[in-house]
Amino acid sequence: MTIPLITLNDGHTIPQLGCGVFKVDPADTERTVSDALEVGYRHIDTAAIYGNEAGVGAAIAKSGIARDELFITTKLWNDRHDGDEPNKAIAESLEKLGLEQVDLYLVHWPTPAKDNYVHAFAKLVELREQGLTRSIGVSNHLVPHLERIVAETGVTPAVNQIELHPAYQQREVTTWAADHGIRIEAWGPLGQGKYDLFGTPAVADAATAHGKTPAQIVIGWHLQKGNIVFPKSVRIERLRENLDVFDFTLTDTELSAIDALDPQDGSGRVGTHPEELN
Ligand code: NAD
Repeated sequence: MTIPLITLNDGHTIPQLGCGVFKVDPADTERTVSDALEVGYRHIDTAAIYGNEAGVGAAIAKSGIARDELFITTKLWNDRHDGDEPNKAIAESLEKLGLEQVDLYLVHWPTPAKDNYVHAFAKLVELREQGLTRSIGVSNHLVPHLERIVAETGVTPAVNQIELHPAYQQREVTTWAADHGIRIEAWGPLGQGKYDLFGTPAVADAATAHGKTPAQIVIGWHLQKGNIVFPKSVRIERLRENLDVFDFTLTDTELSAIDALDPQDGSGRVGTHPEELN
């Protein structure tokens, strides 16, 4: 099994499939990430606010896997956009992770009412220049936020990590990102289990046709769309299942049937709207 590498707009590569640790209990994180590394994941997505960077770091340290084989993402939390707070925040994250550099550092949310996300991203540009992160990007940013960041810093983020799953495909921001060379990382790729995605005929029929599970079909749909994904599970059998997605290809008809699951009125969203978190 070889996980495809995607080349970002800064020339660095990222494994297209990884493991996310949102809501993984800090006490359970080392074991979960150790299991993930054991079954073959090399890309881990965490965040300062998840409170489990130390567990990720402990698993990395114990794994013995060479640093350059791993891809580690963490994120700047919303209360640390101002002044030199991003410098302090990344230092704290690196300490917990036991790393000298992360592979990707993201502004977690734009918190637009505070109007400091452009400053936060400009600080990330400095952190990249200092070698504390290899690539930089944003998360939960909409088109107006991206436009301002690019116009005011002159730097295009490598990725935008947004809620994206079949019922909520965010066509406006994904189209803008594609036009500007920004890769999409899809969070909540399985809809966080919050609606009956797996029982819908578009997914269930493809699962039967390919002899795969519904979760594998949805992950395959993301991969064929070019999304970077890191579904979360704390169960080793599901970690294995979510990685076993490279032996089938969805047909154009199957892809279109899943594309059609988005009501396109925003009602498929399961998480917070970026304009509403401040
Ligand atoms: P997800 O869509 O990955 O759903 C996770 C849930 O799906 C799990 O709790 C589990 O119950 C279920 N699941 C996983 N594998 C399964 C399988 N094979 N079969 C059946 N059910 C399965 O949601 P998520 O964890 O929110 O998103 C993935 C990652 O995205 C997170 O762990 C985190 O790293 C990232 N994320 C980022 C943000 C952000 O604001 N940037 C927000 C949420 C999540």
